[in-house]
Amino acid sequence: MAKRKTVWEDCDILVVGGGMAGTGAAYEARYWGRDMKIICAEKANIDRSGAVAQGLYAINCYMGMQWDENQPEDHVRYARNDLMGLVREDLAFDMARHVDSAVHKFEEWGLPIMRNEESGRYQREGKWQIMIHGESYKPIVAEAARKSADKIYNRIMITHLLMDEGRENRVGGAVGFNCRTGDYHVFRAKAVIVGAGGASHIFKPRSVGEGMGRTWYAPWSSGSAYALPIEVGAKMTQMENRIVLTRFKDGYGPVGAYFLHLKTYTQNTYGEEYESKWYEHTKAMVGEYIDHTPTPTCLRNHAFIEEVKAGRGPIHMVTMEAFQDPHLEEIGWENFLGMTVGQAVVWASQNIDPKYTNPELTTSEPYVMGSHATCSGAWVSGPEDISPPEYFWGYNRMLTVDGLFGAGDTVGGTAHKFSSGSFTEGRIAAKAAVKYILDMGNEKIQVSNKQCEDLKEIIYKPLENYTVGRNEITSGTVSPSYLLPIQGLQRLEKIMDEYCGGISVNYMTNGNLLKRCIELLGILQEDLEHIGAEDLHQLMRAWELKHRTITSECVAQHTLFREETRWPGYYYRGDHMKLDDDNWHCLTVSRRDPETGEWTMEKAPLYHIVD
Ligand SMILES: Cc1cc2nc3c(=O)[nH]c(=O)nc-3n(C[C@H](O)[C@H](O)[C@H](O)COP(=O)(O)OP(=O)(O)OC[C@H]3O[C@@H](n4cnc5c(N)ncnc54)[C@H](O)[C@@H]3O)c2cc1C
Repeated sequence: MAKRKTVWEDCDILVVGGGMAGTGAAYEARYWGRDMKIICAEKANIDRSGAVAQGLYAINCYMGMQWDENQPEDHVRYARNDLMGLVREDLAFDMARHVDSAVHKFEEWGLPIMRNEESGRYQREGKWQIMIHGESYKPIVAEAARKSADKIYNRIMITHLLMDEGRENRVGGAVGFNCRTGDYHVFRAKAVIVGAGGASHIFKPRSVGEGMGRTWYAPWSSGSAYALPIEVGAKMTQMENRIVLTRFKDGYGPVGAYFLHLKTYTQNTYGEEYESKWYEHTKAMVGEYIDHTPTPTCLRNHAFIEEVKAGRGPIHMVTMEAFQDPHLEEIGWENFLGMTVGQAVVWASQNIDPKYTNPELTTSEPYVMGSHATCSGAWVSGPEDISPPEYFWGYNRMLTVDGLFGAGDTVGGTAHKFSSGSFTEGRIAAKAAVKYILDMGNEKIQVSNKQCEDLKEIIYKPLENYTVGRNEITSGTVSPSYLLPIQGLQRLEKIMDEYCGGISVNYMTNGNLLKRCIELLGILQEDLEHIGAEDLHQLMRAWELKHRTITSECVAQHTLFREETRWPGYYYRGDHMKLDDDNWHCLTVSRRDPETGEWTMEKAPLYHIVD
């Protein structure tokens, strides 16, 4: 181990993950922290990393305040409605009031935004979405980050946060390794901003076998955004609020542009409209929420799932009408080619031409994230001017660990940020992090060599497990003394799928299943001490799996705690099949004790700041 080179870096701000939130953070940190040393450590390469790697066809969060199209309050109402009443309205408002300026930056930096020829305004896809030629969206924001940061370290997987030994509950940086060279990297930092994306592959995906790796959310989103803070005792919120997406079958192609712009619609296998059939049934579960406009995403999923369970699947998207118009046909294809090329390839390989065949839709496996139509993530402080006391502890977007900030998928309670809102939140977090550092004055962070050396030992252990254990292999790849990352991943996905409400149980779980889930995850965690990594790539897979497993534990704990079915269509608590506003119109908050691994759960009050 001693042979592995250690690369030391002392800086003011460390940004973990250079996705949408991370690039926004790096950019804004430089604006406020002119003389500060700003470093970004990214697992892949920021030019094509994160959920926007392939590009996007729409920016899903733009108010249009310059044309008085929407106001931030409208967006809070929208997100609150879609999340069945439960969002952090202070955070949502704060993001919404700043998001337009981020989008204007994107355009200034060269992102082509479509214009409505008549009005001259940005071309709307829906009330909140604007259409872009976005294949190069990610390289464009990456360039801004590259020009702002002192250094971008690509190919560094951050595995652990460092803690300040001079003051309790304060972050001191992070460590990780270079997935190509194997070097050990120590970043000592006064403030850390985590923008490490959401979590896919914690539930068994629909695409297995030859389709493995094809998931809706980026397959490399491995829950680091949650595991890193959880391991140092930061509080998390709404982790039960996993998301299930209705998507085109097998390629997970998005449906937003189809519904909103192409005006396509769904029907069951008999060509019937089905959503209205489930109205009374859904009303009995969730009450008046079913009467809200627009219908919350989870409730539309619910009708879909019930219709398929009733034997009237598959559900089709009716494209054959819209695709007769050559302009709409072009948009339909371009939508995938600029964002989810795999869907176009799947259709080509399955002889599906949407002009002549209505393609199938399906509901995905659940994902954990904080920026889409869902709001799992860290419990953070809100902005000084609007947050109630329970939501404010000094610095905007700071977690419950001092000096540790979050943005994008990392931050909980604030749904519907999407790409633009995540970038915006990165900017907000960076501005606050600069202030935090300025307020520290001459105070120094203390991180001992011992802390770093101990972590080094832990990080590379899977390579050692493999080197030793492979001598015991008698045939194939099965060793009596280690498990491989893929084996551990499949075990994790099976546990979460069967016990925590995945696809194979129609998203159903209950208290007893969840208790067993937590036990099995505990056993998996023990076994992960014996994970073996054949090479550096597998070492990355090993750490991704460990991060996914801790994230999963948190999801299971939250799901057990909330004794209601708040979001039918995302998951069901079979022992509490109704929404229960009397007892659960609140946010859930967890903390894992870093010393004992014990979880504590609490309810946090929900404040409605906007009428
Ligand atoms: C298929 C799909 C379609 C979407 N469609 C739209 C759309 O049309 N419009 C829209 O506005 N939004 C869309 N989104 C949502 C948008 O992409 C996300 O909201 C946004 O990317 C979240 O930003 P983030 O920075 O939190 O995560 P990401 O952008 O995913 O960035 C996370 C970064 O962290 C890095 N990372 C992860 N773990 C580590 C680690 N341990 N160490 C170092 N680095 C790490 C990753 O490599 C990545 O670069 C879509 C997303 C997907 C997947």
